[in-house]
Amino acid sequence: MAYSVHYIINHLGEENKGDYFRAVAPPIIQTSNFAFSTVQQLRESFENEYSTWLYSRGLNPTVEILRKKLAALDEAEDCLVVNSGAAAIYMSILSQVKQGDHVIAVHGVYSWAHQIITQILPQLGITHTFVDGRSVQNFMAAVRPNTTVVYLESPTSWLYHTQPLAAIAAWAKQHQIITICDNSFCTPLGQKPIALGIDIAIQSATKFISGHSDVVAGVISSSKAIIEKMFHQQYMSIGSGIQPFNAWLLLRGLRTMPLRWQQVHQTAKVVSEYVAKHPMVRQLWCVWQTPFDAENGVEVSTASCGGLLTFSLQVSNAQQVEDFCNALQHIQMAVSWGGYESLLIPKCATMPLHMVDVHNPEHTSCRLYVGLETAEFIIADLEQAFQKIR
Ligand SMILES: *Cc1c(COP(=O)(O)O)cnc(C)c1O
Repeated sequence: MAYSVHYIINHLGEENKGDYFRAVAPPIIQTSNFAFSTVQQLRESFENEYSTWLYSRGLNPTVEILRKKLAALDEAEDCLVVNSGAAAIYMSILSQVKQGDHVIAVHGVYSWAHQIITQILPQLGITHTFVDGRSVQNFMAAVRPNTTVVYLESPTSWLYHTQPLAAIAAWAKQHQIITICDNSFCTPLGQKPIALGIDIAIQSATKFISGHSDVVAGVISSSKAIIEKMFHQQYMSIGSGIQPFNAWLLLRGLRTMPLRWQQVHQTAKVVSEYVAKHPMVRQLWCVWQTPFDAENGVEVSTASCGGLLTFSLQVSNAQQVEDFCNALQHIQMAVSWGGYESLLIPKCATMPLHMVDVHNPEHTSCRLYVGLETAEFIIADLEQAFQKIR
């Protein structure tokens, strides 16, 4: 059964408060191992590490509370929480491929997903094709007899293209292809890939779930069968399960996640209206808009997400982009997003200066994450930086 978001966040997994002195906030069970009173108990635990407290590389009670909540938010049977979103990507892909397989992925995926697909999979004899994910026909055209995984990210990083997840999932199922979707931008509050038929939903918990820029973590949600197999193979052998203290910080982040998420969305819309009208801005892409999909008559995503916008500057040289960024006083220049603070990262920082082509709107673009400051505060900072490059 599907629980309400507030029940999941406030109560689910915390039914046995008697186990921890009826404390309102769950404890951080900061232990590496668990003791047994008989050899038989220990033997039984070895036989099924997936359902007993034995060693914290496997299961841990603090992490367990978090797993229950995150799986329920995803409407998944089970989930694993790992030490980064990148680990979630790595483990979910590697758990579903073998030598000789072919993977279809969408253009514009997160940089480290791109790295795994283009650098690590070839070492294992696994080929790939990138497609424009906005239409299911593009997947149909790229499929091969040995295609085993379709890797999605909806919306994608930077330009926020969405994919028709339900249609892709239905098509992939007919071909026994496993679908994986990075849902970091929407979070399960805005889109539930599993409910749309996707096999494995992943997210970077570093972003909206943590919400305070103090934890790096990732989530993998799927069926019990897929998760249990992944637990015994990748999870236990890579040994990168989340540690109890970080799990506790994520539990704390979850308590306010819906409020933060809504607020960031609202503020970002106001900021985007200012940016859209600014004479120094050439083009604007918002994470909550999918204009291309409408233009092409392709199924428009019903996903809801917020906080991020990418805008390209109307400039005649790359130095102006740098001057704009360097002039910001409160919006911090840093990677990541989903925290309490506004952040900006210019595309030109990801390439050598001489490669920047000012005629290419992507090259002069900046990605802005709108945090929990007021819209006026953020706009004032942008405005004074724009003034400096006029
Ligand atoms: C940040 C991010 C990741 C990686 O997550 P980490 O927790 O930084 O490893 C994966 N996918 C997307 C879309 C991201 O923005």
